[in-house]
Amino acid sequence: MFKKSLIMLSLVSSLVMASKEEFVGSGKGYNGDIKVRVSVENKKITDIEVVKHEESGFTRRAMKKINDEILSSQSLDIDNIAGATYTSEGIKEAVGKAIASSGVILNKVAKKATINEELKDLETDIVVVGGGGAGLSAAIAAKENGARVILLEKMPMVGGNTNYATGGINAADTSIQKKLGIEDSAELYYNDTMKGGKNLNNPSLLKKLTEESKYAIDWLISKG
Ligand SMILES: Cc1cc2nc3c(=O)[nH]c(=O)nc-3n(C[C@H](O)[C@H](O)[C@H](O)COP(=O)(O)OP(=O)(O)OC[C@H]3O[C@@H](n4cnc5c(N)ncnc54)[C@H](O)[C@@H]3O)c2cc1C
Repeated sequence: MFKKSLIMLSLVSSLVMASKEEFVGSGKGYNGDIKVRVSVENKKITDIEVVKHEESGFTRRAMKKINDEILSSQSLDIDNIAGATYTSEGIKEAVGKAIASSGVILNKVAKKATINEELKDLETDIVVVGGGGAGLSAAIAAKENGARVILLEKMPMVGGNTNYATGGINAADTSIQKKLGIEDSAELYYNDTMKGGKNLNNPSLLKKLTEESKYAIDWLISKG
């Protein structure tokens, strides 16, 4: 009897396994095509995996959020993530194409989530407003110095414009330059920046920048 039910059970589970299917599709993101693999069971989307993309690293969380929302709403009628609009569109397009022949019937309109989280008072030492490079650095430094910190960011992702800054970071007389035997000075950096700013720069701020940015480089390196 026990053996018989075991056989029955494995038969049932293999039937369930057999109903799971995978479909792939691609859509246009910001930097190129985004390819997804969509798992479907009983005409419902059960998993979405981004298998290939050219998007910037900071869109990773946006991708996960879009995937989670498609899964929970079983709909493509979901809001794009501000700051990662093209990536969001690309994923929705890819999922739509992947499931085109899957038999999945999507909800035309996604049920909007209602927020019934209870608001509670929080206590902290420091509130940092804005999670770009400046805010994140301030929050990390404050935390490292023993303060309790709350960081507020208005966008769905942290990073701000700092996410897009990929050219380089200026500093003079850095530890890296020293290692490479490159001679440089805060004075050269100051004069160069003043020239670039057509002498309109605020001298005391520029002095601070040019004399202390080398420490920012060391700090960033220490954070990996
Ligand atoms: C395309 C591009 C390329 C760049 N390349 C370089 C480069 O190569 N080298 C370089 O040194 N600089 C570069 N820059 C400039 C550099 O990115 C910025 O100077 C720097 O990122 C500014 O950092 P920040 O933290 O002050 O501002 P941001 O990174 O913009 O952060 C501000 C944050 O505050 C949030 N915020 C605003 N108001 C509120 C509010 N009321 N409540 C909550 N949150 C709020 C914003 O959403 C944002 O996340 C580049 C900029 C761009 C756009």
